[in-house]
Amino acid sequence: MLRRVFSLSTLISSAKPSPLLNQVAYGLSFLKAFSTDTLKPVEAGILSKATTPTINFVLGGPGVGKGTQCARIADTYGFTHLSVGDLLRKEISSNSEYGAMILETITKGKIVSSEVTVKLLKSTIDSSKTNRFLIDGFPRSEENRVTYERIIGIEPEVVLFFDCDEEEMLKRVLHRNQGRVDDNVDTTMERLKVFEAYTLPVIRYYSEKGKLYKINAIGTEDEIFERVKPIFAP
Ligand code: AMP
Repeated sequence: MLRRVFSLSTLISSAKPSPLLNQVAYGLSFLKAFSTDTLKPVEAGILSKATTPTINFVLGGPGVGKGTQCARIADTYGFTHLSVGDLLRKEISSNSEYGAMILETITKGKIVSSEVTVKLLKSTIDSSKTNRFLIDGFPRSEENRVTYERIIGIEPEVVLFFDCDEEEMLKRVLHRNQGRVDDNVDTTMERLKVFEAYTLPVIRYYSEKGKLYKINAIGTEDEIFERVKPIFAP
């Protein structure tokens, strides 16, 4: 049984200040985002593509079903689905110079360094022959978002947020059986905490910009996809 079950929708739609823990974490992530390491000259829009790509972000807690829905959206509406978690796992299996650090971070349920993640994302977009992207699991923190704005700098058209309670997310993670190092109770509890402290502020940011589409992620795969369709249908 989970000690802490809250409705993410309540947190997002509430105009009131977030709980203290959230505010402290938000403050810390913001300070981190503006550390000297990230205060480098702005190099926005340095993708080497001839036409500016269309970018959409997809957010939601662990096990919420982002990957499944992204695959359907990508197939139906002609996007390239880029799962940042998958890109990072590929770095581990290819024994890249960051592989060991990424494995350790994922195993602990923490967020991988934004510099590494955004550069990986940039090189993947750059080398792709397509120009319409659905980026799954990004930006996961304000630091991710600020680093993306500095290194890639393309405003997302849509930010989807799949919303579900924590208890259900934990249940789904523990039932999916994909052999992932982070699909266990302890790491998932940490991922849920990270989601609440670091990703909810990003969700609030895009909500305030009028870019956020919140989808109720409770229901069958088909029911959830029906809720997504109007956002992408012409
Ligand atoms: P996912 O496959 O989306 O559940 O992500 C698995 C793990 O990859 C996360 O718990 C993080 O450790 C790492 N990760 C995924 N996306 C990001 C991101 N945008 N920034 C940093 N780390 C990430």
